[in-house]
Amino acid sequence: MKASRVKKPLSIKLHIFISMLGLSLGLIVALWLAQSFFLNSIYSRIKENDIKHASHSIAYNINNEALDSFVEQMAVEYELCVRIFEFDSDQIIEKETEGTHFFYDCVICNLTNADSLLNSWYDATKDAGGYYTETVDRANFRDFIYEGEEASDLSGMCIIATNLVEGENGNMFLVVLNTPLHPLNSTRKTLDIVLGILTLVTVGISLVVSYLLSKMISSPLEKMDKKAKALAESSYQIRFDEKGPKEVQDLARTLNQTTEELASVENLRKELIANISHDLRTPLTMISGYSEVMRDIPGENTPENMQVIIDETARLSSLVNDLLNVSKLQSGTQTMSISKMSLTKCIIDTVKRYDTLVNHKGYKINLVYDSEVFIEADETRLLQVVYNLINNAINYTGSDQTVTVKQEATDDVVRVSIIDSGEGISEEDLPLIWDRYYKVDKTHNRAVVGTGIGLSIVKNILLLHGSRFGVSSELGQGSTFWFEFKICKD
Ligand code: ADP
Repeated sequence: MKASRVKKPLSIKLHIFISMLGLSLGLIVALWLAQSFFLNSIYSRIKENDIKHASHSIAYNINNEALDSFVEQMAVEYELCVRIFEFDSDQIIEKETEGTHFFYDCVICNLTNADSLLNSWYDATKDAGGYYTETVDRANFRDFIYEGEEASDLSGMCIIATNLVEGENGNMFLVVLNTPLHPLNSTRKTLDIVLGILTLVTVGISLVVSYLLSKMISSPLEKMDKKAKALAESSYQIRFDEKGPKEVQDLARTLNQTTEELASVENLRKELIANISHDLRTPLTMISGYSEVMRDIPGENTPENMQVIIDETARLSSLVNDLLNVSKLQSGTQTMSISKMSLTKCIIDTVKRYDTLVNHKGYKINLVYDSEVFIEADETRLLQVVYNLINNAINYTGSDQTVTVKQEATDDVVRVSIIDSGEGISEEDLPLIWDRYYKVDKTHNRAVVGTGIGLSIVKNILLLHGSRFGVSSELGQGSTFWFEFKICKD
């Protein structure tokens, strides 16, 4: 079978460079297209509007005394040539103004034998309602222009606009304006050069910007990658630099937290191995010691010695069970079987398990409750909760050896409190005791046997039930562990 080819992912640098280059090239192409397709029409439209405006303004001021300077002003402002013709009954007389020769190659400045042309414009303007405009090839004027230097090159298009207006004397005046469209070519050439330079500059800028951007983003990531690799080799001292863009800082912060967590889990793991090996070794030593004595020394095969072996075996198996339980609970593989159960009976049964301790070792367990209360819970798991809490209370209670288990029910909620009068827990340890493997007393004291997982089991089970729980404690005064359940009424 052919192995499928895995596509190599692009680096951030290349991603950014390609995007930037794409963006700038897209813009340039848009500009080139705009220039090629729209420049002509936009330029002509602007010129048409200018010429129309100038033509109307001049026609409006036809009887104005300052017409001459007004025409000059319009011609200069809009780059036009202007000529005004008066149509008498039998002749055409030019009204002299300063509006001619305002650009090279004007087609109306040097008209000769142009009466027919003027008459045709007159008619066209009249037909058009007073204002007429056309875009024409300048070569059309060849017959009406003096032979001369200015007329030699008659290529390109121009706009002619004519306005027909009545003068004070009743005669009609034809205002003729002309503006070329040929500067368009030079404009286009200029724009071509500008766009060419712009293309080079934007490609250059996108190269520089993409290099700087990718450096800003990828170099902290590359550094982090190196450190993360070292982390994988379990060097938990590593700190990620919280510098650079916000997302990179957030990532560094998360990685730092993870590193701290990993470091503390690693410490706990080491501690647990030490604790567990100690806890496993002690009963195993007892079992092997008693077994050897019973084998080798006649008369030592007594039920009491047997009982020691049985007790130590039970202790071992409960330790192993605890470890299994907490792993199952935390990995989420533990399924719950919720049913209606008597919480009161569960407490009474658990307390009963301590009868031997109560009878032989002087412990006192007070059980306080009003009535039997039912809740919905996983019975086996709840038994573990009550057992672990009572067990801790007995383990850590004070010299009076007294533990109180109290069940208080309100209308909806029942609270179970397990109270001891022992050494208590310091404020800084209180939030930590629920963590797996956490033990307040790090020196191993045989009287208090524990792996630091009992409360972690309690917490996980109560969380799975959605119960409220907590602890209040004062050093030297004792502790009260409590949890609550909704009362099941039907
Ligand atoms: P352990 O098996 O060590 O008892 P737990 O998870 O049950 O583990 O408890 C964690 C730690 O919380 C214990 O090591 C102990 O220091 C503290 N602790 C638990 N219950 C009590 C209590 N009733 N009084 C004082 N300290 C307690």
